[in-house]
Amino acid sequence: MSDFDRLAPTRRAALGLLGAAAVAGTLASCSQPGTGAPTADAPVTAETVAEAPEVPAAPETPAVPTFARDFQVPPIQGGLVPVITRVTTKNPIVFLTIDDGVTKKPEAIELLRKYGYPVTMFLTKNFVQEDPEYFRQLMRDGDFVENHTVSHDVSMSTKSYPYQLAEIKGMQEFAQATFGRRPTLFRPPGGAYSATMRKACADAGLRAIIDWETKANAGHMDYQYGNSLRPGDIVLMHFRPEFAADLAAFRAAHLAAGLTVVNLEHFLGVE
Ligand SMILES: [Zn+2]
Repeated sequence: MSDFDRLAPTRRAALGLLGAAAVAGTLASCSQPGTGAPTADAPVTAETVAEAPEVPAAPETPAVPTFARDFQVPPIQGGLVPVITRVTTKNPIVFLTIDDGVTKKPEAIELLRKYGYPVTMFLTKNFVQEDPEYFRQLMRDGDFVENHTVSHDVSMSTKSYPYQLAEIKGMQEFAQATFGRRPTLFRPPGGAYSATMRKACADAGLRAIIDWETKANAGHMDYQYGNSLRPGDIVLMHFRPEFAADLAAFRAAHLAAGLTVVNLEHFLGVE
């Protein structure tokens, strides 16, 4: 669902209310301070005020411009999913990915809502299964849960195919059962991948491995290349105690670079 669609119910509600007010002859412009005395044909009583539907607060977030997709996820070749560390694009956009799910602070939900950032969450089953409700609350329309394995074994890329497949498929099934969608993207614990892992991902129905070239960590940005965000960067963050400081670093960086945060799955076409 686009941001425009997300705004639509509010707009519809506001228009509906305006229509009702017009019919009742109590347009807001008649009720300015000093001129608010009820007219004879449209008395405003405590009862009519109480019956008036609540006006939903208009979202603070401005509509996000849409960008033409100029990047295609490479196909699975030789039974191996592609590995993407940055999206090649001419659009002034950046992607926010948040991993693991160990720390579950209400503040993270508030901050993501406040800024209206679309997020891709690479969650680990064993970190989130006790409290999946937290992530359901955090998700807005257009946010996705993706696959970050069952147990977060950072050496899994060197292990056997059956072991890796079980780690990946276990999270596919958990995500489907818990969040209602089978992930399309995979992030390796620690970032290390191998041909065996790429094959296991393909066999589990995933479309790509998503790594990164920049991260928000310990309250500042880390860049593998250069010293600022570039169009198409995929930023890694974590659900950690320092979430607010990391998000502040990310926010300063994407604003300084003039980049808009957009949803990764939508831009890749792998919803
Ligand atoms: Zn991780």
